[in-house]
Amino acid sequence: MIIKPAFSPSAKDILRDRYLWRDEERNPVEKPEEMLERVAKHVAGAESSLAMQYKWADEFYDVMARLLFLPNSPTLMNAGRPEPHGQLAACFVIGVEDSMESICEALRKQMLIHKSGGGTGFNFSKLRSEGAKVNSTNGRASGPVSFMGLFDKATETVQQGGMRRGANMGILNIDHPDIRKFIHCKDKDGTITNFNISVGVFDGFMEKVQSDPHGEEAALLAEIADSAWRTGDPGIVFLDAINRGNTTPNLGELSSTNPCGESPLYPNEACNLGSINIAKMVKDGAFDYELLGEVSAVATRFLDDVIDVNHYPLPEIAEAVKLTRKIGLGVMGWADLLFQLRIPYDSGEALELAGNIMRTIQQRAHETSVALGEEKGVPETLAHLGRRNATLTCIAPTGTIALLANCSSGIEPLFALEHTRVRTQIDGTKVIMKQVNRYYEQARKEGLPDEVMKRVFVTSHDVPPSAHVRMQGVFQRYTDLAVSKTVNLCHECGVRDVLDAYTLAWKEGCKGITVYRDGSKSSQVLYRKEDE
Ligand code: UDP
Repeated sequence: MIIKPAFSPSAKDILRDRYLWRDEERNPVEKPEEMLERVAKHVAGAESSLAMQYKWADEFYDVMARLLFLPNSPTLMNAGRPEPHGQLAACFVIGVEDSMESICEALRKQMLIHKSGGGTGFNFSKLRSEGAKVNSTNGRASGPVSFMGLFDKATETVQQGGMRRGANMGILNIDHPDIRKFIHCKDKDGTITNFNISVGVFDGFMEKVQSDPHGEEAALLAEIADSAWRTGDPGIVFLDAINRGNTTPNLGELSSTNPCGESPLYPNEACNLGSINIAKMVKDGAFDYELLGEVSAVATRFLDDVIDVNHYPLPEIAEAVKLTRKIGLGVMGWADLLFQLRIPYDSGEALELAGNIMRTIQQRAHETSVALGEEKGVPETLAHLGRRNATLTCIAPTGTIALLANCSSGIEPLFALEHTRVRTQIDGTKVIMKQVNRYYEQARKEGLPDEVMKRVFVTSHDVPPSAHVRMQGVFQRYTDLAVSKTVNLCHECGVRDVLDAYTLAWKEGCKGITVYRDGSKSSQVLYRKEDE
């Protein structure tokens, strides 16, 4: 293990606060390079011989240390911990049936998964509506929204291995009797804060909205858009698009995703994610597809190995995971790549490049999965696909790992070119950091013409909502799972803009859509410079 990792000083701070292992006095007992060594060795432990373990540990270390690829946070934090610790996946889905037993069971699973470092998603549509009859007691049911409060409270109480708080996705289908209550369940600031919520809609509903703009369906969608315009919630998941993309329809329909929407999964399934830092792949002023292909192959093997060395919090999860072996390889650093290539985010050229990059990753990941199947075996349930993994690609938010790789998050445009970031340390104290995007700073120094600066260095609010959606759509085309993306709207945008974004997202084949209008919540995670 030769090279030193290329972590920036602020990445090292984050690692020290949240990732590095500590002793009882909370002093770190490893350095960043030792963390990567630990991860590389533990993951390569899935390989069949000692020689293969050494070989792949070196390869895994190399791509991580060069910040070309990073796995999701739980893998970095927990790889190598002895059982019952050592849970490595970020995404889980839990099934909820219409019985008290099932709700209690789901709550138990949620608490154990959160404790292990994972996030959980639920579709609550099977629960009977509020006020419906309960046969055993002759009483009245509380309804899905009320039960969500319970899952929310449990989340508050369980920290993810002391590192971060669990996140949830709550979905209710559009045809559930309590849908209006659900749409408004987060209206009041500070309620159900540990849930992202999404309405599950079907093609039939969207078609009805198009054909009858004054009908009941159109009014309901407008109500969703109005709520999202005011508060950012709910989002929408397009369940038919999700099921069209399901590579294992033989195992049934998909009805839920993980918290940020990028992984549609079956109940009890888990998925581990990893992201390629494409901002690091510019060679002589052009995108380096050869490097992308190589890193994609190594990363695919890495994520497939994670499945085998992961310690699952429950036996039924281990079982479900082995049936489909889902992994999610995606990208981060997209906006930073565009800056370097001087391509505006909202341009045809950007859409074309996005398609080419994601297609390369998907092809290479699929080829690798076929080869891994020949080498290590194909699960019986995936015989029809002829590969080892039901899904290979996914675009995660990369909320923290992009900070570690010092690149822009996922496929999002930059929120601001200059901003201050408030970092909460493990002891609760806050550190304020001023940051200027380095490609912006460099271009300013080079003295690029003003019109080029203005056109290329755009931020999320300069990009029209339709360009956000189209970008999501083109990445989705080459993504097996789904794409995490927030369509940022300026403060002045109207409800009509939200509705237009919904329709476009549905037509583009997106699996879901989340909008967020600037300034619409009282506490925002990031503020632009001029807002301070
Ligand atoms: N997640 C979670 N809690 C958090 C952040 C993330 O449970 O505080 C889960 C959630 O399922 C999310 C996934 O991790 O969809 C990936 O999030 P992200 O890419 O931001 O994670 P990172 O690996 O960058 O920490």
